[in-house]
Amino acid sequence: MLLLNKDQITSWLNKLIPAYQVFAPVKEGDYFCFQQIRSGEQAVLNYTNSRIPPKEILFPRSEKLFCYRCETGGVQLTEQVDESKKVVVGVRPCDAKSFLLLDKVFNGDQYVDPYYLTRRNNTVLVGLGCNQPAATCFCTSLSGGPFSAEGLDLLFVDIGDQYLVEVVTERGKELLSGMELPVAGQEAQEAARAVKESAVCSTLVDLGGLKYRLDVNFDDPIWALLAEKCLGCAACTYTCPTCHCFDIVDEAAGKEGCRIRNWDACMFPLFTLHGSGHNPRPTGKERFRQRIMHKFKYFVDNYGTIACVGCGRCILSCPVNLDIRQVIEQISQAGGDQQ
Ligand code: SF4
Ligand code: SF4
Repeated sequence: MLLLNKDQITSWLNKLIPAYQVFAPVKEGDYFCFQQIRSGEQAVLNYTNSRIPPKEILFPRSEKLFCYRCETGGVQLTEQVDESKKVVVGVRPCDAKSFLLLDKVFNGDQYVDPYYLTRRNNTVLVGLGCNQPAATCFCTSLSGGPFSAEGLDLLFVDIGDQYLVEVVTERGKELLSGMELPVAGQEAQEAARAVKESAVCSTLVDLGGLKYRLDVNFDDPIWALLAEKCLGCAACTYTCPTCHCFDIVDEAAGKEGCRIRNWDACMFPLFTLHGSGHNPRPTGKERFRQRIMHKFKYFVDNYGTIACVGCGRCILSCPVNLDIRQVIEQISQAGGDQQ
């Protein structure tokens, strides 16, 4: 473990910027978001969490997959794979874990997505532990933690004027080359231990019986009741670090065009509308159920893990205060015999 003075951060980032696209939390109005920075001074590391997760750095809201032009003798294709080297600084542990979940989708046994995977392989993640988890955080209920290093290359622990730096991977170590940072002594390690012990998520969500309830309660009246309040705005899905639904469109003019991938959401009726006019998820009830089922049942069936990291963004962003922790509790208590 090493020590980095906070007043070294700006010069360290400035050193990285010529070699990498560096992304960090920056203040935008009342919120923080991850943006590519041009100078180390733009980074703000004393933040709670970003409104939109850093997911969009590897899986952008909108991206050109390829462009094409029809010419005599064939079609010319130009692929748009982004091969730039990136560093993301200030990633919270829940968001780092979300990349491990997205890997299962975009780099799975059946499908490999070169657009996501190329960015993923070229990106180094520098984490920042959470000294004070927000009231909406519940990562510890999902086998995460405010100082979990899972999925990170470096983890910073804020101990006052310094960060204790845990080097997790060789790629992380390379980012510090030339810095000649001192090894953390007993005092710094004690300070980090104290910070970690005092960082607790205020809510514990009991997920014990949830999967069984979801397996048997597809037709339970609870879904209509829960969905009654939902506006179908999809703020919960657009701010979620693990949601990954997308739509693909061609934007064409004359003999040329581009194929573009855009984020989409299961909360929208058009998402499942067939060309015939039939919609298998015709009302808010089916769409609300799908969102919960996907995260806590289908993803578990397909990949053996829950697709939620407990970041709390959906709770913060919901305009009608639908709280996923309460939704889980209500479903867990709904009918159906416990196994
Ligand atoms: S479902 Fe909500 S709490 Fe879970 S990862 Fe998505 S935004 Fe975060
Ligand atoms: S943010 Fe709230 S109201 Fe909007 S779709 Fe999600 S649960 Fe429904």
